[in-house]
Amino acid sequence: MKTHTARSRFSAILSLAALALCTTHAKAAEDMSKPVITTEIRKGEDGKDVLYMFIDGVKVHETDVTKQPLPPVVTPGDSLGFTTPPSDAIVLFDGSEESFKANWTDSQGNPSQWKIVDGALESVKKAGYIQTRRNFGSVQLHVEWAAPAKVSGDGQGRGNSGVFLMNQYEVQVLDSYENQTYADGQAGALYGRSKPLVNACRKPGEWQSYDIIFHRPVFDEKGKLIRRATFTVFHNGVLIQDHVVLSGGTGWMGPHAASEYKAHPDKLPIALQDHGNPVRFRNIWVRELKDKPL
Ligand code: MG
Repeated sequence: MKTHTARSRFSAILSLAALALCTTHAKAAEDMSKPVITTEIRKGEDGKDVLYMFIDGVKVHETDVTKQPLPPVVTPGDSLGFTTPPSDAIVLFDGSEESFKANWTDSQGNPSQWKIVDGALESVKKAGYIQTRRNFGSVQLHVEWAAPAKVSGDGQGRGNSGVFLMNQYEVQVLDSYENQTYADGQAGALYGRSKPLVNACRKPGEWQSYDIIFHRPVFDEKGKLIRRATFTVFHNGVLIQDHVVLSGGTGWMGPHAASEYKAHPDKLPIALQDHGNPVRFRNIWVRELKDKPL
């Protein structure tokens, strides 16, 4: 009888453990299956196949605002976010030529043609992206930027740049002040994946800030994605991405599709985009973050 009771207890503990494991797996499975992403191929005007991707039923880069409403406009206060780097920050650009050269290269690892203007780093057309010499995984990143004061172009062609975590996950930089484009491509969007909660853009030429909390995706030893990246972003001190689980990559895969996750190292450079517009950057600093255990 005693043995029987002990056995019952043991099997009850086993059942509980199994249930806990199932719940954990179910949770993990649930996280990985949302949002629901579907794809289809449609014929373009030229008769060629075009990939269309839908995230929870909404087309990537949807321009119809009845299907993908634009984020409400919010006038930010006078905040430039977490302006002053704390003592454990790695300063990536302090306004000087020296800090630019010491911390940044072009995408091939060579000196970049971007220029310093009035203590700010300015994107130079056709000079390509710049990237940090050092590699980073999960980080807290502060960066200030300004779209050109002289307005030129519209939509995606006006003040376009980008802050790329791990050289690939883009927080869009765009002059979104009274400049309409698809919501998932405006300032503060995780490009093609998540529109900002609100549009907190300042006027062209005015300094703005992003404070980004990024946790890297995790891949297993076979390259299978086991945890997706997350983003929390403040624009001029206003929360615009609220612990968003990034559903996939942010790379351009045609007019209505974004890239998928693809296995990569745990640390990679932070990059800034040359999209042909002279966008300026200043006061860039970063703190490395630890990842939570799996
Ligand atoms: Mg961009």
